[in-house]
Amino acid sequence: MKPAQLLLAYQRLVERERELRDEIERLESLLASDPNVAHAEAALAEARERSQGITLRLRESDRERETHRTKLRSREKELMSGRIRNPTELMQLNTEVQHLRSSFADEEEAELRLMEEGELAEQAVVEASELVQGARERSANDEPQLRGELEAMQTELAAVKADSEAAWAEIPAAARNAYLRIRVHPPVAEVDRNQCLVCHVTVTSSGMQALRKGEEIVHCENCGRVLVLV
Ligand SMILES: [Zn+2]
Repeated sequence: MKPAQLLLAYQRLVERERELRDEIERLESLLASDPNVAHAEAALAEARERSQGITLRLRESDRERETHRTKLRSREKELMSGRIRNPTELMQLNTEVQHLRSSFADEEEAELRLMEEGELAEQAVVEASELVQGARERSANDEPQLRGELEAMQTELAAVKADSEAAWAEIPAAARNAYLRIRVHPPVAEVDRNQCLVCHVTVTSSGMQALRKGEEIVHCENCGRVLVLV
């Protein structure tokens, strides 16, 4: 192989190595924490919090209703007792009792709605728990396959690393230096129909001649990459 072709072969191995590392990282994080399980667990926590919030509100509303009920009963008793004879006072008390009755009825109505909300929230907790269980089961089922893929990739990575080291050793020093000086990625570009396939600028005829000979390293005049004929 010509020096530029050796560089291209090396570059392909380096790219494969990077892909494998990314994929290994993805699989490892998937095995550490399955996003579907984490998502279902977060939804369950939220549903529980909502249900607990409603339970607390119901308890609070029970207490308030009890206080208001006691107050209403005592006022009603007072009204019926016949002890109050002053018509103005009687009228005031009567108005107060009417008012207490109406707000008590409103509170009962609100409590019923809250109880319905509470039932729905409990149902949502049950459903969210089922989703968590399902996600955990799926994750456990998928795990052996993911572990298998991970192992295969780790094996391939070891092989690719060895191959890329061997490929690098084969490249003449001048070509290696040319490759290492390039700061753009990827450093090697293929040429097809007189065009650099990365930046799409036409290669000069002298550049094409040198490429056909293949003895020296030719750079793209536009992007500076090492060129190689396909
Ligand atoms: Zn170029």
